[in-house]
Amino acid sequence: MDAESRLRRWLRPQLLQSQSYHVPDSRGLIKLDAMENPYALPDSLRERLLDALRDAPLNRYPDPQARELRELLIAQLGLADGLDLIFGNGSDELIQLLAIALAGEDRVVLAPTPGFVMYKVLAEALGMRFVGVPLGPDFSLDKSAMLEAIARHQPALVYLAYPNNPTGNLFDEQAMRDIIGAAPGLVVVDEAYSPFSARSFAGWLGQYDNLLLMRTLSKQGLAGLRLGYLLGPRAWIQELDKLRLPYNINVLTQIAARVVLEQPAELESQAREICESRQRLFAALGRLSGISVHPSDANFLLFRVPAGQGGRIFQGLLEQGILIKNLHGTPGLEDCLRVTVGTPQENASFLQALERIL
Ligand SMILES: *Cc1c(COP(=O)(O)O)cnc(C)c1O
Repeated sequence: MDAESRLRRWLRPQLLQSQSYHVPDSRGLIKLDAMENPYALPDSLRERLLDALRDAPLNRYPDPQARELRELLIAQLGLADGLDLIFGNGSDELIQLLAIALAGEDRVVLAPTPGFVMYKVLAEALGMRFVGVPLGPDFSLDKSAMLEAIARHQPALVYLAYPNNPTGNLFDEQAMRDIIGAAPGLVVVDEAYSPFSARSFAGWLGQYDNLLLMRTLSKQGLAGLRLGYLLGPRAWIQELDKLRLPYNINVLTQIAARVVLEQPAELESQAREICESRQRLFAALGRLSGISVHPSDANFLLFRVPAGQGGRIFQGLLEQGILIKNLHGTPGLEDCLRVTVGTPQENASFLQALERIL
């Protein structure tokens, strides 16, 4: 048997048919494609971080429970009795963990579309079926379509991103509660963008036995650390924890996250600045003719350019050294581009380049 036939003989057909997740090379570019916080940590915090990391016991395995970090976060969140928390190496890992826990040939993961792509990618990687329910006009939740799809497909898992990526908006709270009430399985409210949003579902935790809340430190300013967490009823979290790799959160991440979270005001003030920049960028984009920009509660803006121009404008920006995200080709997002809010200088460079291209 030659090498190629051996590979085709053994790898899962689904894997052979799938594409790898593409991350563009951003070296030398103004990077406004991945919802990162554009600011470095303040000097005082960096000093504390270095002090703490100096003694990091890299010869030892990490604490499998990440207890110090865990206790800090539980106290900060004021997690009620009966609720628990599980950490992931980014929330991507938690999405994978949920798929591993719920997988089965006839099992469905359901989410509004356009939405976060990893829900579909990881469901399908584990052999589950993904059902996307199109959002309504203005990217609002189509409640009756959602309820109908839930009744028909009986999903094991429903994802609701709040705010939604890549559209940036919050969904109607009552519609979400109706969906949680109607879902036969788990509902995960994904609050990756909570640092930039005035609204949260945290207050509803514990009121539904099937509601989990997922968060991440990535968009807040620690994308490089890879730390996400899932909150919810202890019974669910304990079962999920059986599947978690024991040392999934490394020593450096546990220490660094703790040091930064001990001073929450630092990242909070950066988030406020990003929200102010978002409002200025929103207004500036709105003044450009031919562009329609969608309101956002996250650290990015989705905008639509004149029909047929999406690819050209994305490419033009790239040629001027600015990387954003081209969403043209995603159903419902024809000629849509997504820009992450950067520093005031980065946003100005982006706007200048965009004006030149238009
Ligand atoms: C970015 C993002 C995530 C994944 O974040 P991690 O970096 O893996 O923690 C999850 N959900 C949504 C909606 C996102 O936009």
